[in-house]
Amino acid sequence: MSPMRYVDQLDVEGRRVLLRVDLNVPLRDGSVEDDTRILAVLPTINYILDNGGMAIVMSHLDRPGGKRVAGLSLRPVAERLSEILATEVTFVDEIVGPAATSAAERMRPGSIVMLENLRFDKGEESNDEAFSKSLASLADIYVDDAFANAHRSHASNVGVTRHMEECCGGLLMKRELKALEGALESPKRPLVVAIGGAKVSSKIDVLENLARVADRLLLGGAMAFPFLRAQGLEVGDERFDGAAEEKARRILESDAAKALVIPEDFVISTMDGGVETVAVSRMPDGAQPLDIGPRTIEQFVNEIKGAGTIVWNGPMGMFEKEEFSAGTRSIAKAIADASAFSLAGGGDTGSAVDRYELRQRISYVSTGGGAFLEKLAGRQLPGIEALEDPEFIRS
Ligand code: ADP
Ligand code: MG
Repeated sequence: MSPMRYVDQLDVEGRRVLLRVDLNVPLRDGSVEDDTRILAVLPTINYILDNGGMAIVMSHLDRPGGKRVAGLSLRPVAERLSEILATEVTFVDEIVGPAATSAAERMRPGSIVMLENLRFDKGEESNDEAFSKSLASLADIYVDDAFANAHRSHASNVGVTRHMEECCGGLLMKRELKALEGALESPKRPLVVAIGGAKVSSKIDVLENLARVADRLLLGGAMAFPFLRAQGLEVGDERFDGAAEEKARRILESDAAKALVIPEDFVISTMDGGVETVAVSRMPDGAQPLDIGPRTIEQFVNEIKGAGTIVWNGPMGMFEKEEFSAGTRSIAKAIADASAFSLAGGGDTGSAVDRYELRQRISYVSTGGGAFLEKLAGRQLPGIEALEDPEFIRS
C-alpha cells in the first residue's frame, strides 16, 4: 500500500475534478435543514476553485433504491451550496448522460457543477462497471472527500477509481483519517473509549478490537446488556441478546477484560410505566434499562477526567427522552470539559453533541457513522483502499 495522496498535492489548474462528497443532509419542506455536511466539504471545494480547477460535485441522498424519487433530488442541496459559496452552482438533473457531459464540457476554471443523486441509478450501489466508467469520463482527476461513505464499495467511490488516471483524498478525508489514526494508533494514554447506543449486533465486533487498544472501555446504552447477561444478570430483553452475549463472554474471558467498565446502576422504565434508579443486581423482571444510573455516571465521568485521549460513539441511554438523558448529557459534557484530545462519531452521537451544543468543545466530531465504527474496529475501508492501492493510481 502506498500512502494516500490528497488534493493539495495535485495540480488542479485548468482540470476537471470529479469530487465525491457526502451531502446526505436532512431536508425539510424542500430545503436543507442542517448544513453541517455541506460546511465540512467547503475546504476541498474552495481549494479546487481557488486554484483554477473545475469541480464536478457528486453525492448520494438518502435511499431512493436505484430509481428517481421525487423529494430526493439534490437540487435543494445545490441551491444551498450556491448560497454558501456565493457562486453559481450548475445543477444537472441527471448523473451521467448527454446533459452531464455537455455541462462538464462547458465548464471554465473556477466553475462548479453538481450532478443528481447518485443513488437514482442502480449502478451506484452495485458498483457497476459501465456506470463507473461514465462517471470517470466526465473529468480528469478524481477526489474522494466522502469519508462517511468509505465503508461502502460503490461506483462513485470504488469503481470510478479504476478508470481515472489520478485519484486522491480530499481535505475532509485527510482530517478524518488523521483524527482517527491519531486517536487509535499513537494515543496519549490513558485512552478512554466510551461506547453506547443500540446497534448491539454490529457494534459488538468493534468492541473486540477496542478492548485491546483502549486502557478503559466504558460500556453504556444497550451495549452493556450482553456483558451483564454474560455475567448472569437478566438485563435487557432478547432483542439485545443472541450472539452478542457469546462475544461479550469471550471478551470478558480475555486479557482485554481489565479495560472494561460496566454500569453498576441504571435508570429503568418499569412494567407499569414508572421511572426508577436501580443497581444492576436488583433489576426487577421486565424492567427496561434506558439510561445509566448516577453511580455509573460518576464513575464514567471520573475515567473521562483522567483520560489522555477520549473516543466516544453511542448515546449512554435513550437521550431523546428527557427522563433518560442524564447519562448521555453528563458524559458529553465531561468530554467537552476535558482537556484531552476528544473524538466523537456516529449519527445519533452527533445529534446528542448538537442537542447539548458541544460541537465546538469536542476536538473532532467525525462526519462518519458506519465508516467511523469500522475504522474503530481496525478494518480496512474499501473507499480508502481504492485510493491507496498504487494499481489504481496510474499517473
Ligand atoms: P450512533 O448512531 O451514535 O452510532 P446508535 O445508532 O447505535 O448510535 O444508537 C442510538 C440510539 O440508541 C438512540 O436512539 C438511543 O435512544 C438508543 N439507546 C441508547 N441506550 C439505550 C438503551 N439502554 N435502551 C434502548 N435504546 C437505547
Ligand atoms: Mg444511529
